[in-house]
Amino acid sequence: MTSIRTNNDVGEWHNRLNTSVVTRGSVPFYHLLLVLHREATNITVQMKMVSEGKMQRFQRKKTLQVEGSLRVNCITTSMPQNDLVILHFNDVYNLEPQKEEPVGGAARFVSCVKSYQSLNPLVLFSGDVLNPSLLSIFLKGEQMIPILNAVGTHAAVYGNHDFDFGVDHLCEVVQKTSFPWLLSNVIDNLTNKPLADGQESCIIEWSGYKVGIIGLVEEEWIETLATLDPEDVTYLDFVSKGNELCQSLKEKGADLIIALTHMRWPNDRLLAERVPGLDIILAGHDHDYGLEIVNDTNIVKSGTDFRNLSKITIKRKEAQLHVDIEKVDVTSEFDEDPETVEIVKHWQGDIDSKMDEVLGYMNTELEGRFSKIRSQETNLGNFITDIMLEISQADCALLNSGTFRSDRVHPKGWFKLRDLLTILPLVDELVVIEVTGQQLLQALENGVSAYPKLEGRFPQVAGIEFGFDPSKPKGHRVDPSLVRVQGKDLNPEKKYKLCTKEYLSEGKDGYDVFKNCPVKETAEQCCTLSTGVRNHFESIQIIKGYKKCKSGHRQSLVKRKLVQKFISNLRKQSIAHRLDKAASSSAKLQRRVSRQESVHDQEEAQCHLSPRLEGRIYLLNDQIRTEKMIEKKHGLEPCQEVDLEEENDVLLNNLSLDTL
Ligand SMILES: [Zn+2]
Repeated sequence: MTSIRTNNDVGEWHNRLNTSVVTRGSVPFYHLLLVLHREATNITVQMKMVSEGKMQRFQRKKTLQVEGSLRVNCITTSMPQNDLVILHFNDVYNLEPQKEEPVGGAARFVSCVKSYQSLNPLVLFSGDVLNPSLLSIFLKGEQMIPILNAVGTHAAVYGNHDFDFGVDHLCEVVQKTSFPWLLSNVIDNLTNKPLADGQESCIIEWSGYKVGIIGLVEEEWIETLATLDPEDVTYLDFVSKGNELCQSLKEKGADLIIALTHMRWPNDRLLAERVPGLDIILAGHDHDYGLEIVNDTNIVKSGTDFRNLSKITIKRKEAQLHVDIEKVDVTSEFDEDPETVEIVKHWQGDIDSKMDEVLGYMNTELEGRFSKIRSQETNLGNFITDIMLEISQADCALLNSGTFRSDRVHPKGWFKLRDLLTILPLVDELVVIEVTGQQLLQALENGVSAYPKLEGRFPQVAGIEFGFDPSKPKGHRVDPSLVRVQGKDLNPEKKYKLCTKEYLSEGKDGYDVFKNCPVKETAEQCCTLSTGVRNHFESIQIIKGYKKCKSGHRQSLVKRKLVQKFISNLRKQSIAHRLDKAASSSAKLQRRVSRQESVHDQEEAQCHLSPRLEGRIYLLNDQIRTEKMIEKKHGLEPCQEVDLEEENDVLLNNLSLDTL
């Protein structure tokens, strides 16, 4: 590093020449010529000696100090020479530590991050923080905001669970955090901007680097978001969007580009293969710690639940970036951060006041006594399993009655969060599995096998009707010819989508038959049961006008698939009518309105909150069997359950084309 030449240096040279040459009076011309010639020949030797450090300028202490500070500024504004340290984490749910090492917990995690303070780390997060957890049932993830802020998060990408309480809620949360949330490839059709006030990309200048950051998600989880209609967003392919943003960030001078992602491993690998402009992929969604290099790009998933993080050190060596990744386990060796301990205590104390939140008005009492719900269909069982269908869009739903913990009749009237959590106190993870008709039958047999013992395996169902004869031996109590799914006779060969608890899909409570069934939607993709129920009440509040929906996105009370079918039929009809281009934009608006009107009618019916018994599960004896057989023979509906699909078709047929 050469020192800085200032006016003083030129001044000193002039002074030296003056004092050595001008002794008295004027200087003879030929004498000056000789002196200047000597200076000229010496200058090349002096330059060589200075550059080799053999000769040093004389500088006063003060000058050296001033030059020192100037030199520091010079380095940081030129090409980066420092190491850039990044701390990365993803998928955090519980504030409290776990039992097994690495125990984690928010308070230890904060002190772990603080232990790297001297390295001035850039802290990046790959999504999933607001749900699911027991505290989130009360606080909707609000407890996580001070933690994200305390670790000094600089940027994050949205995870699927961050949408669990709806887009409105997420937007409110984002406003309370002190960093940008990225979502580069999902556009909200209602605003034409990234969904939930996300940012498409950002550049953070850190440790002398211009770090370009983008946030990418996979299409699969858009389909599973219960609080959003996929028709209301435009999903952009992560490969083409990734390439486009890499290009534009490079043009803006980014030294390196990081993708924060929330997608499964195969898609992260695809991203690394097809988007060469990316330097690192910091990923989430999968909870196991993992590191892979694909196409020279590092992909890192940093564990889960404040138990692990990654320390990523980036050095620049001859215009190449050298990336070094270290897994850090947040073990009990880290002390808990005292301030965070206080925050955790505060939230836990806040729960009591939240319990009185009113969710809705029940127009009938709900039967939750073990003596009933573990031996027969109850309206509480119907209410909850119907919501499972609403959030999963599956063909049918089955829950073990052991899920319902309140053991009481809930009176007609205001239904509070306290009531919901008395009924469903646990974090019940849901999944959607694919079962054959035969497997479904086996599952029902298991459900009634212990009858009349009040066992938790007794099923509560939606989309299914069946009868069982307890006088028959176990495994032969359900009459296959009377089982109906979605109002149609059970086909043993047919594959059905069944929404159930993850617990049952693992073969618990005697439901061994589910163990090997293909999982169509994992617990990570579905929202938890109590969250779904809360969102159901919230949607009713919105429909009834008690609550505003700022973003226009909420959980639908009817099957989304039907809505989509409705729209595609409308489109076909509009094409048939050859709407001209000028009218098409207003037609688009009208189609939307028509769609909403029809769906609105269906949803209105759901808002009454008076679940009833519908003959989904009945006891069989010879007399009832004969009656059912006669009903079947004459094609009579055995119960009054409304077939939404057929009703939708009727609605379509009746829809006047004038409304288009
Ligand atoms: Zn996730």
